[in-house]
Amino acid sequence: MQYRRLGSSGLQLSALSLGAWVTFGSQIGRSEARELVATAWDHGVNFFDNAEGYANGAAEQVMGDVIADLRLPRDGYCVSSKVFFGAAADRRPTQRGLSRKHVRDACDAALKRLRVEHLDLYFCHRPDPDTPVAETVWAMDTLIRQGKVLYWGTSEWPATLIREAAQIARTHHLHGPTMEQPEYNLLKRARVELEYAPLYAELGLGTTVWSPLASGLLTGKYTGGVPADSRLAQPELAWLKRSVLGDDGDRLTRAGRFVALAAELGVAPAPLAIAWCLTNPHVSTVLLGASRTAQLIENLQAIELLDRLDEATWRRLEAATSA
Ligand code: NDP
Repeated sequence: MQYRRLGSSGLQLSALSLGAWVTFGSQIGRSEARELVATAWDHGVNFFDNAEGYANGAAEQVMGDVIADLRLPRDGYCVSSKVFFGAAADRRPTQRGLSRKHVRDACDAALKRLRVEHLDLYFCHRPDPDTPVAETVWAMDTLIRQGKVLYWGTSEWPATLIREAAQIARTHHLHGPTMEQPEYNLLKRARVELEYAPLYAELGLGTTVWSPLASGLLTGKYTGGVPADSRLAQPELAWLKRSVLGDDGDRLTRAGRFVALAAELGVAPAPLAIAWCLTNPHVSTVLLGASRTAQLIENLQAIELLDRLDEATWRRLEAATSA
């Protein structure tokens, strides 16, 4: 495994980490989740990503249980949560968003479900147009001073808002955002490569990027239709299916060109797509998703590809997948 600093902070995260979205507490059972965490840990993964909204809190519960069950040393791994979408099945106005109240309540609930005394990383899962940014910055700073959170950040915030949060923090001598969690893969590059470009030097921003396979599209598994055992076959994820496959065939075509080039190079598409994300030095860690241990083991091979392939090959992949 390779380890990278989370932006300009001193925290060293494994370049590949494991996320719980769709899978933990929903698509897979507890024993599969346990095997995934154990396998990731055995391969050097030290960061496990979660959110209050994943399976209404059940993903955090399962992750907390299996990490405790595996007796991972608390000083050897990092765990995250995210606040915004809420975890209650019937969400009342105070049970979602980024108000001081919900940020505090959601953090306390995540600590209980994950069975830890602090969250290493805590994200504002989306911007909240109904809460002043300053209120959220103060709330996050309070959690850090209380020892409940070590680093806070954002997820899918526009650069302007991240900069505003950092400015508020600087003015009032508060802890500012350390990292952002954006989508990043060969089919979605602009935000990480262009919009956030000035923020890396300006704020020392780190990134924990998600959906490196575009929800599996870059494995080529959807070329002949959606397999019955894949996430896109789940009726409640019809919205995700529409967004992943697109409506004009363009994303499927670009993914098809990528898979053909992977075959020509003689490498499996999944680790290749993941390794490409790691060629960007502003990526602190790539969050992997897996519904089976065999997928995770294949994806962890991305680290070896990173050293094996050259600049010209990465540029060919970009050309093949461009719109
Ligand atoms: P990916 O794009 O890597 O998709 C993972 C899924 O693709 C797996 O669950 C599996 O789905 C399929 N897959 C993975 N590897 C293989 C393989 N080798 N062969 C075939 N199929 C494979 O990542 P995710 O979308 O899951 O995102 C990763 C993490 O990022 C999440 O768990 C979460 O922590 C975070 N995230 C954050 C978001 C945010 O807003 N901040 C949003 C989304 C994710 P299946 O078997 O069902 O087909």
